[in-house]
Amino acid sequence: MKLCEIYSEKDIKNNGIYKWVKPKISFEVFPPQSEPEKLYEELSKLKKYSPEFISLTCRAGEHNQESNIVLEHLKNDMGFNVMPHLTCVCTSKTKIFDYLKYIQNLGVKNILALRGDIPENKEDMCHDFHYANELVDFIRKNTDLSIGVAGYPEGHIESPDVYADIENLKKKVDAGAQAIFTQLFFNNDKFFSYIQLVRDAGINIPIIAGIMPILSHKQISKMVNLARIEIPKTLADKIEKYKDDFKSLREMGIDFACYQCNQLIDAEVAGLHFYTLNKSYSVSQILENIL
Ligand code: FAD
Repeated sequence: MKLCEIYSEKDIKNNGIYKWVKPKISFEVFPPQSEPEKLYEELSKLKKYSPEFISLTCRAGEHNQESNIVLEHLKNDMGFNVMPHLTCVCTSKTKIFDYLKYIQNLGVKNILALRGDIPENKEDMCHDFHYANELVDFIRKNTDLSIGVAGYPEGHIESPDVYADIENLKKKVDAGAQAIFTQLFFNNDKFFSYIQLVRDAGINIPIIAGIMPILSHKQISKMVNLARIEIPKTLADKIEKYKDDFKSLREMGIDFACYQCNQLIDAEVAGLHFYTLNKSYSVSQILENIL
């Protein structure tokens, strides 16, 4: 099923606002460097939650044979609807065209169109595409895939602020994006005010909340350094408290994500997209609690 169908299937459109009836659940995974069987085992444990699709990340400019094997296995052998991610800064129009042809032949219906991070060595950059809106435009003109794009409730790290970033988000939507998947966040108020700002900017497509269960102190520190993500003080204190106690930290992360998701469900958010980090335990505990 296409993104545009998934998020409108049971929605009641009320004065241009999407009213949400049932949680639309999806999972993000990454292609493992080795032992993909472990990923398949974790995903088989999550299958009972009937995800709308599994999204598969890509490294900047790279769709190698290994990640294609994972994509094919998820789709053909495990029967999942899949949404591969596609970045454009380190690759050419020709390669992108070939990849789009390949996934359409596989029967893939959806794609997450991204710019990707600018490489440290800018010589690795290809100049066919500069921003994600150009990729969205290219995909819309050359395929009938349903296109998702990234959104940043606290503003993208390169943007002066969230307002400038939303102006650029509008370019992706005008080019043909049909759903916005947000970067993970821990402060729901920031997400709610982002939705308001996006709607005020005249963008009416579904906004899907990115949720990442906390698994380790190291993971959080790395993320905060790479992206603009606020960790509320009470949460930061708990992460610090349990930093050397993996199980307690993981349980605390589950509780926090449940609290976040319940609030989002009450606010009738269009969907919950879980950053699973290829692990099923926390996500399944959260879903047992909230569904
Ligand atoms: P863009 O939308 O192009 O925005 C990039 C920056 O440029 C922003 O600051 C924006 O405000 C500005 N901008 C945008 N358009 C214009 C324009 N026309 N003119 C001037 N300025 C502009 N990365 C990966 O490598 N692989 C993945 O699989 C992956 N998956 C992701 C999934 C999600 C849900 C999210 C939120 C991010 C993901 N990323 C992934 C990270 C993403 O590639 C980076 O955040 C990247 O730096 C920006 O990509 P984008 O598509 O948001 O870029």
